[in-house]
Amino acid sequence: MNVSDSELILGRLAAEGYRQVTSPADADVILLNTCAIRDHAEQRVLGRLGELKGIMKSGAVVGVTGCMAQRLGPTLLEQARHVSLVIGPDGYRALPALLERARNGERAVETTFDLEEHYEDVVPRRSDSVKAWIPVQRGCDYKCTYCIVPMTRGPERSRRLPDVVREVENVVADGISEVVLLGQTVNSYHDGASDFATLLRAVGAVPGIRRVRFTSPHPNDFTDAVIAAMADVAAVCEHVHLPMQSGSTRVLRRMLRRYSREGYLDCVRRLRDAIPGLCLTTDIIVAFPGETEADFAETLSAVEAIGFDDAFTFRFSPRDGTPATRLPESDTVPDEVAVDRLDRLIAAVRGQARRRNLSLLGQRREVLVERTARRGQLLQSRTRDFKTVLVPGDESLIGRYLTVELTGTTGSTFTGTLVTGRTPLPVAG
Ligand code: SAH
Ligand code: SF4
Repeated sequence: MNVSDSELILGRLAAEGYRQVTSPADADVILLNTCAIRDHAEQRVLGRLGELKGIMKSGAVVGVTGCMAQRLGPTLLEQARHVSLVIGPDGYRALPALLERARNGERAVETTFDLEEHYEDVVPRRSDSVKAWIPVQRGCDYKCTYCIVPMTRGPERSRRLPDVVREVENVVADGISEVVLLGQTVNSYHDGASDFATLLRAVGAVPGIRRVRFTSPHPNDFTDAVIAAMADVAAVCEHVHLPMQSGSTRVLRRMLRRYSREGYLDCVRRLRDAIPGLCLTTDIIVAFPGETEADFAETLSAVEAIGFDDAFTFRFSPRDGTPATRLPESDTVPDEVAVDRLDRLIAAVRGQARRRNLSLLGQRREVLVERTARRGQLLQSRTRDFKTVLVPGDESLIGRYLTVELTGTTGSTFTGTLVTGRTPLPVAG
């Protein structure tokens, strides 16, 4: 979502004649688009702001945008004297005007929510030539007790389906055939006329679209209609990132996730029944206040029972103003216990992913080449089921679909050999 917002900010500024430079030392305007989800993310922004003091041109305008800006508002101006603009996720339309004022020495904060704002007329400056981020929903109406997002991004609102489809048609015209639909609970999408199932069918029917992904869905919003659309629409990839957060019903209830362990397992079963070969990844938080060793054991056993292909694992980070911070102090999980649980969870996830990935060796897969790999002479490509495969080849293959055989794995990523070379692009329609 942040990358997508950055693309909108860059688009907004490009339309006003701003040009991107490669080094902050050359910039007249420096914007840090920020995340507030965990304290760690915010500490990195403060560190970066400190570094900028030493390298920025004199007279350059420094602004903080995004969720941390929304969360801290005017206090950021007090904390960092060289910051002159603080703009939340709904305020980017005003950016050029605010920049003008900042260049005249003013300092400004813009953090009002605008429930109509989808930046429909802003042409994003995309950072990726192979896949396109398509925001379909802003904000969040769930109120998970650990989460700052409802406070920083405001209430949920969906873009109109015809506007989403038009953007998808535009990216196809630019040579892109993979889109990732974005929303905090993306499958709760509803524009008043159409739900997420209808949206998937409409996006999948855009001529030239070959891969449709979405992130992040909420288990409770996987209606039968959404799952049927995923199974029916050929372009929808066989991968779901389905945040679980915990395997303990007691903890899930305290997190206000609105599903139980059994409810989550049932959702996984329905998805797997409908979509053969589905790859499943997740987010898990350890050491939520009050999490006992027995609760954590339930998370480990859910991980074992489900067999995730990968997981983002987080240690609970208290966020000011969220309900979880009002739980009794005695519920706080001690640091050493939290660190130990995170280590054990990571080991379990890695072991499982490794076993699953080893079992795929020798199989053939269609990959889309995304970029050159860090290791020389190799390209990084992605299967429909979201596995990273390094294949030999040169830059001219970026954006092409190839068939590869999976020949090796580090446990998480694969190496592959080309089977048929270039496969033709699909015939439009
Ligand atoms: N809207 C998405 C999640 C967005 S935040 C969803 O509900 O699926 C991405 C992930 O950050 C969450 O899934 C959660 O695992 C993690 N996260 C959010 N708040 C956190 C906190 N206070 N401490 C630790 N991890 C957190
Ligand atoms: Fe946060 Fe929960 Fe909304 Fe996801 S669904 S953004 S975790 S409040």
